[in-house]
Amino acid sequence: MSQWITVLGATGSIGSSTLDVIRRHPTRYRVYALTGFSRIKELVAAATEFSAKYIVVPNQQAATEAKALFDSQSITYTDCTILVGREALAQVASADDVDMVMASIVGAAGLVPTLAAAKSGKRVLLANKEALVMAGPLFMQAIRDNGAELLPIDSEHNAIFQSMPAKYSGEFSKHGIEKILLTASGGPFRNKTKTELAEVTPAQAVAHPNWSMGAKISVDSATLMNKGLELIEACFLFNCRADQIQVVVHPQSVIHSMVQYNDGSVIAELGQPDMRTPIAYGMAWPERIDAGVKHLDLFDIARLDFTEPDYETFPCLNLAKDAFERGGICPAVLNAANEIAVAAFLAEQISFLAISELIETVMGLCPEKIVQCLDDVLAADQWAREQANSVLAEFKNNNQPVGQV
Ligand code: NAD
Ligand code: MG
Repeated sequence: MSQWITVLGATGSIGSSTLDVIRRHPTRYRVYALTGFSRIKELVAAATEFSAKYIVVPNQQAATEAKALFDSQSITYTDCTILVGREALAQVASADDVDMVMASIVGAAGLVPTLAAAKSGKRVLLANKEALVMAGPLFMQAIRDNGAELLPIDSEHNAIFQSMPAKYSGEFSKHGIEKILLTASGGPFRNKTKTELAEVTPAQAVAHPNWSMGAKISVDSATLMNKGLELIEACFLFNCRADQIQVVVHPQSVIHSMVQYNDGSVIAELGQPDMRTPIAYGMAWPERIDAGVKHLDLFDIARLDFTEPDYETFPCLNLAKDAFERGGICPAVLNAANEIAVAAFLAEQISFLAISELIETVMGLCPEKIVQCLDDVLAADQWAREQANSVLAEFKNNNQPVGQV
């Protein structure tokens, strides 16, 4: 019997890789809904190809565009309902007919629909790490309380999941686990000095050496905030402390992360830097299916390198660690400040080095506050965005040479 899938963020990098895996298994997977915030033409084309029952677009204008595109197609296609707005995202993530949800919206916008999928007991394929960073304890509780399945899609977390004992109880000591070795490529600016980093442009930042990804995560990879968010993600997913995770820079991105055990064993998952592998693994688990990924040629790779991260040149990693250790609303505040800073950098309003300065300033203003419900998280997100925007305005008003060494 086919399994029905909703792809949140179907027009993005992870979304299109997901559709490529589905395309290879047309009887095993059927598309229930596809959502997109822009690129409506691509969304309608995918909905047509996969006979999606629903698409979700952000506003009425996009809905009119989608309708015109459906109408203009030479084949008659009338079975796709166009839904509009944020509530519709949660609706298609939690509908009774849906078996699994690919959570691949970028940023905080993905939190509510991803949580809706968890609350309705779906298999949640989690690419949207920001959702977990913002609301880790609530999200994990929703998974447990509603019998949902959480399959990590982030390549590192997928590798850790594959390297963990099959029935991991959530306690390292019970399984002889000593630590997680979280690999990082180092991004496009590995080995650059602070002086050099002051000059880098958005175009250079989004040109990742190994992975092809959306703009926001590419900048996060360049600042190492991506690794910081992933460290928090791993702590929530595998129920461990930040000091039980060691970040290892591994520029070839062949090992996607490892788990170290007390008998001296280190178990790793290796593969091509192609997100279709973790996506296919998450979709088919505990089985395995063809993902269209070419096999690893070890002779071609020939060598693997490992170094310590440069915490001083890339302060985002420690900012994230601190935010996790402070707990409460701090990870949500970190995430929101980062989103504002990255958008400002991409819009050429601030320099690369100002990204971490802006986040650090907002984190300095962040009160200690516990999270009891989703509204607490959303309020912290809103508060942090306001703070980040006023810090940004100050940077600009003072005409400060933001991000200078
Ligand atoms: P992307 O920018 O390519 O795609 C983002 C998707 O989200 C698009 O479909 C876009 O239309 C949608 N979207 C954007 N803003 C939205 C909003 N406000 N409301 C609703 N939808 C919105 O991003 P991506 O690279 O595919 O990354 C998606 C998520 O997966 C991110 O959280 C990222 O950290 C994570 N991730 C990506 C990769 C990768 O290789 N690309 C790897 C690991 C994790
Ligand atoms: Mg990753």
